[in-house]
Amino acid sequence: MASFVLRYHPLNLHLRHTFTISRWSRDIAANVLVELEADGIIGYGEASPNQRYNESQESCMQWLSSFNTADIKNPFDVEALLRVMDATGPGNYSAKVALEMALYDWIGKKLEIPLYELWNAPSNTGPQTCFTVGIDKTENLPDRVREAEPYPILKIKLGTDRDREIITTIRSVTDKPLWIDANEGWKDLETAKSHIRFLADQNVQMIEQPMPAGMKSELAALKSYSPIVTMADESFTGRESIDELAACFHGINLKLMKTGSLRRAMQLIHRGRKAGLHIMIGCMIESSLANSAAALISLWCDYADLDGHLLIRDDPYKGLAFNEQNHVYMPDMPGLGVTLR
Ligand SMILES: [Mg+2]
Repeated sequence: MASFVLRYHPLNLHLRHTFTISRWSRDIAANVLVELEADGIIGYGEASPNQRYNESQESCMQWLSSFNTADIKNPFDVEALLRVMDATGPGNYSAKVALEMALYDWIGKKLEIPLYELWNAPSNTGPQTCFTVGIDKTENLPDRVREAEPYPILKIKLGTDRDREIITTIRSVTDKPLWIDANEGWKDLETAKSHIRFLADQNVQMIEQPMPAGMKSELAALKSYSPIVTMADESFTGRESIDELAACFHGINLKLMKTGSLRRAMQLIHRGRKAGLHIMIGCMIESSLANSAAALISLWCDYADLDGHLLIRDDPYKGLAFNEQNHVYMPDMPGLGVTLR
């Protein structure tokens, strides 16, 4: 069997504009590139460690340094890799998914088949994708909306003390459908209800994480109140009870960096479907590498927010692409189909 060499490097991605959400603001995404090589074939993976889940570039590389590639006994047995990674304990999910991603990319390349074909995806084309407008000064918002001209759906970050001003400003320059992400920014039920009443007349199709993840009973009350679909993001890492989530939200936003595995993301889609949940796939600030893995999963999802690579100005890779209606599609190439730009 193949014996693998594992390499990893910092992958610092620079944002086009300082990106601000309700919790933080930043100019650089400190990601990690993973390479898994055997038989002259390199599989690539990417981690985007998130401070909300106690991860950093350093902690991610430290976890990778402790991984022993001799534990990959049969590279085609991905469940075995997941068991080895589970045995290292909880956490480090971005590092774990980067390693699994690299192994899947390697498997596809070794078999000379695109992963969407290997996995029997319904097609190589997924849902329409939104483009995110971060929190910005009100006078900058019209420019941000103009820059998003090619994208049919805008995702607007809220959770500020001037949310209505933001929406009114955006509505003065576009009538595109909007998705909202409050990133836990509405701190009580009455505030959330009042924002939703306002947004209900603004052609808003969904709201991500209106209130803090800990406010379960309020989120459940909001679900039955809201005429707009609410989606769990910070409330959903992939390890919670699906039934409890279904009581609090209409849908779930899957992110590979949270679930820690593509394979488990697929299991979560099936469990979410059984509970009647809408399924969304999202991303962190990532290059086209990690986002192509998310695009693969999007082929089974209802909504896609896969613009992480469009928000950076030095994406080293080429992979997922968008058609004229901005539906995401996978390139017809072995593995993830990602190449250097
Ligand atoms: Mg979100």
